[in-house]
Amino acid sequence: MLNMDSINVTRSTLPPFEEYCTEIRGLWDSRRLTNMGEKHEELRKKLQEYLGVEHIGLVTNGHQSIELTLQAMGLSGEVITTPFTFASTTHAIVRSGLQPVFCDIDPVDFTIDVSKIEGLITERTSAILPVHVYGNVCAVKVIEDIASRHNLKVIYDAAHAFGVKYRGQGIAGFGDASCFSFHATKVFHTIEGGAVACQDGALDRRIAKLKNFGLDGQEDASEVGGNSKLDEFRAAMGLCNLRHIDDEIAKRKQLAEHYRKRLEGAPGVQLNPIQKDVTPNFAYFPAVFNEKVFGADRDDVLAELTSHDIHARKYFYPLTSEFSCYKNCFCPGMTPVAKRVSERILTLPLYPELTLDIVDIICDIVLSCRK
Ligand SMILES: *Cc1c(COP(=O)(O)O)cnc(C)c1O
Repeated sequence: MLNMDSINVTRSTLPPFEEYCTEIRGLWDSRRLTNMGEKHEELRKKLQEYLGVEHIGLVTNGHQSIELTLQAMGLSGEVITTPFTFASTTHAIVRSGLQPVFCDIDPVDFTIDVSKIEGLITERTSAILPVHVYGNVCAVKVIEDIASRHNLKVIYDAAHAFGVKYRGQGIAGFGDASCFSFHATKVFHTIEGGAVACQDGALDRRIAKLKNFGLDGQEDASEVGGNSKLDEFRAAMGLCNLRHIDDEIAKRKQLAEHYRKRLEGAPGVQLNPIQKDVTPNFAYFPAVFNEKVFGADRDDVLAELTSHDIHARKYFYPLTSEFSCYKNCFCPGMTPVAKRVSERILTLPLYPELTLDIVDIICDIVLSCRK
């Protein structure tokens, strides 16, 4: 068919090679390669500014940002979350010795359905861990209200929400903590990496300690910590990528708008919503296919794209609550909306280097699946 390379759902952005080389040059002189060095500190300050947050701690990956936050808060019992997410969110809760309690999602923006949270609160509930899935903003004000009435912590999985704003305010300004992923496939990346943004200096200090073996100076450890530090080479990659982030998001916007123009109004296709008061980051372009109306189901569309060497992904299918490691742990049918969406959603390729021509080709193939 087309004379083009295979198209994947995402493709990592990279700065110009020379820019990265210049950024890391000084490390050959300083020989300080990790342990909160110069690049780490510079990136931390720049992110604090870019994200508009009080405190931010850099860690080795997004998953650790969630585990460290749960540990640093000293939570116990149950955590209300959603199963419509990447494995990491649920695993982080379970690996921290906590019990996930699954809340259903909103059928329009796929974030936690806030009308169903209170019915799940018990005396064992200690926190709510919602996901800004696809960069869509959770109902932060309602969640804040529920949490304060029931004295619960709120930790956002903000892995998809880098740079997103709500009513002009950085997304990490909501909740007690927001956990970011800087994985290579995310909107902003440090190859592998992550961060916890929070409002409370004491929490920030505790996380900083936990990520470095719980050490206090050279002769004591006051916490049983592990190692989740971000090294200088990855911090340098972050510094380079941060210089280009606004351009990259602008390219994503143009592509996402083109997808929307081509697919909007196609009967049986539900697109990711444009949320009121939200400055989006265009992290992903998911579409839900209602087979009865569209005339083909999600798997048909996926197979047709694959036959053209275009690799969309079933983000997020299955629900994390359906993983074999959680067999017999959770009652099926608890989250019917999440289940229905997960069986019908397909995330189409979207990354800054994609072109409008390729988006057109993808849309032609998607629409050709209609019977
Ligand atoms: C990517 C991701 C994570 C984990 O981040 P890593 O940096 O890969 O460890 C957590 N939650 C969600 C929703 C993600 O997409």
